[in-house]
Amino acid sequence: MTIDTLLPTPDIFSAKRILCVQPHYDDNDIAAAGILKRLQKSGAEIFYLTVTNDLMGVIDHSLSPETAAEALKRDQLAAGEIVGVKEQFWLGYPDAGKYDYFDLRRDILKYVRQLKPDFVFTPDPWLTYEAHRDHIQTGLATAEAVMFAGLMKIASSDPAVDSAYEGQPIDGIVFYYTREPNTIADITSTWGDKISAVRCYQAQFEPDDMDMLVMALDMKSRQLATNRNIEHGEPLKILHPQSLHCGF
Ligand SMILES: [Zn+2]
Repeated sequence: MTIDTLLPTPDIFSAKRILCVQPHYDDNDIAAAGILKRLQKSGAEIFYLTVTNDLMGVIDHSLSPETAAEALKRDQLAAGEIVGVKEQFWLGYPDAGKYDYFDLRRDILKYVRQLKPDFVFTPDPWLTYEAHRDHIQTGLATAEAVMFAGLMKIASSDPAVDSAYEGQPIDGIVFYYTREPNTIADITSTWGDKISAVRCYQAQFEPDDMDMLVMALDMKSRQLATNRNIEHGEPLKILHPQSLHCGF
């Protein structure tokens, strides 16, 4: 036996319940809507948890915070319909603002214990040159929540959820926005759905900026597909939760 057979890369296609924890309202779909739609079509249930209120990037400055929040939610729910997201949850931390890392970890831990996913998606917090703290904090807090899900001395933000939790193995954590993928997911069959979902995010993108984003996604996904006999790929780092500590 080798370490690779002891801790193999988890099989993403075995996923049945997937929790995707994103810093902002569009990250899950920009990064991973292709693979998520594939998994949803093969029967997986998908849940989104959004960490921040995302108000900083809204392009129409005349909107009140309440109206802007409604516009963001409208975009998000429309995209979620396309991807087939079963349910969405929001934490409402201030976008690009000041909040406590441990509060965030407790809140994410609550949803991990409540929803009992077998796979959890989040941004790679170790992405080199990632400057947005919301992405780093979300990815790290999610990784810790996955690692600590079964350690009941570490409380979540909801005692009732903790006392009802009976332990549920998490088969894998999937980092998107990564420079070190171990998997290029073939998203050729769901590329159209992905782009339709991404185009729902109108509150934060001028039409020209959206066209540029779609073009960049297209070029990147084709570059990743080179020599793989596919048209479009999404880069993922898929790890067993036991690989989240001390280099295993
Ligand atoms: Zn983001």
